[in-house]
Amino acid sequence: MRSVDVIIVGASLAAAAAAKRLTDSGLETVILERKELPRHKICSGILSPRGHRFLLENFGPLPPEILHDPTWCRGVTFHFPSMVSMSMDFFGGSTPHLHRKYSDYWAIQRSGAQVHDQTSFSGLTDHDDHVIVNARRQGEEIQYRARHLIGADGPTSLVTRAIYPDYPQQIPWFVVGQKFHNIIACPLDHEYFHFWFHPELGHYTWSHARDGQQIVGVGFKRGDKFDTRHKNVVRYLEEKHGVVLDPYTTDEGCAENFGPSLINRYVFGKGNVLVTGQASGFLNMIGEGMSCALHSGAIAGEAIVEARLRNRPVQELYRKMIASEVRRTTDQWNPLKIAFARPHEADFPAALMQLSWRERRLVMRDLWRFIVLFKEFKWGRQIARAALARTMSENYSNKYWL
Ligand SMILES: Cc1cc2nc3c(=O)[nH]c(=O)nc-3n(C[C@H](O)[C@H](O)[C@H](O)COP(=O)(O)OP(=O)(O)OC[C@H]3O[C@@H](n4cnc5c(N)ncnc54)[C@H](O)[C@@H]3O)c2cc1C
Repeated sequence: MRSVDVIIVGASLAAAAAAKRLTDSGLETVILERKELPRHKICSGILSPRGHRFLLENFGPLPPEILHDPTWCRGVTFHFPSMVSMSMDFFGGSTPHLHRKYSDYWAIQRSGAQVHDQTSFSGLTDHDDHVIVNARRQGEEIQYRARHLIGADGPTSLVTRAIYPDYPQQIPWFVVGQKFHNIIACPLDHEYFHFWFHPELGHYTWSHARDGQQIVGVGFKRGDKFDTRHKNVVRYLEEKHGVVLDPYTTDEGCAENFGPSLINRYVFGKGNVLVTGQASGFLNMIGEGMSCALHSGAIAGEAIVEARLRNRPVQELYRKMIASEVRRTTDQWNPLKIAFARPHEADFPAALMQLSWRERRLVMRDLWRFIVLFKEFKWGRQIARAALARTMSENYSNKYWL
């Protein structure tokens, strides 16, 4: 049985950031990835300015082969049913349009960790001073022994399920799906990521240009029909925005754990097992998850380094250290912060002020109708409670974290 300091499950951005901290401190780190690397990852690849800074500071200049075309994104355009549209540039200028297959592999390679790809995590047993990790490689069972384990295995995290088996039943699940179309005519500005706050289109509706095609994406509650939702959006884009597309060439979709960061119900682990990235529930506004995956991953790595240096329980340290990232992420959903601070990385209030009074009223009405779409999840009271608590304390409460 291979014995190492830390096993990380998942070879993505959270893993790369955690691994960098661990290997920089001399800890032997092995990353397990179920797919063959470089692996495909469904993602728009629009990196926030903060995520961009993290990559530059930790992994160096981004090589051109890890970017899609268009290689840069200026910001986000919001569209509303009243046909008001608002474009917002990212603070600090355009950000790279990451090709996740290559960007993640590049970051993982630069992290200095060893990678065992085509190796699926399947279970663990946490003992007082080590974790036994079970995995499967090409049909064969293998075991590792590690002092700590980090679950950086994304929204449907098996690591989370190994320590909290009933967690999937505690949260609502969404599906996001995107289809790729050749373009006949597309007046949507290809330098922006486009998002629709339109309750009749679905919970999450987006479109953007990639490698000469147009992506049309829809997010909806598990149980709805991807094809019907997608056709509805394509029809809407043609009627309202003059977007004319050929039938789709490819499509893909996956499950999303959208919700925990809105209501401050993150999962950070138990004993010697830390959970990080989107597996913890980190997701910023408009589904931007790379920057918080990178930062939370780095904090998970640092927590292990600190725990070993100071001989302190790792969970206690991780929960203290991760509070800053919880603040950054949950602030983006906090109505008081949205109204009175600027928690996002593009200036929504400034864009709103550029509209006429009539348009502002229409936008506020449309936003409210969109929010009502989420009423069934009963998040309103929990968001209000977290927002109020935040006015009285520097941090969000850790009472509801797992
Ligand atoms: C359609 C879509 C569009 C998105 N667009 C954007 C965007 O434009 N910008 C943005 O910032 N975010 C976007 N996101 C969100 C972003 O992709 C995620 O938040 C981010 O990738 C989370 O990173 P992570 O490191 O936590 O985990 P992930 O990127 O989910 O990676 C988890 C890794 O773990 C591996 N894994 C899973 N289970 C196992 C196992 N049992 N054993 C071994 N390995 C395992 C997976 O193969 C994967 O490599 C989008 C997401 C979707 C679905």
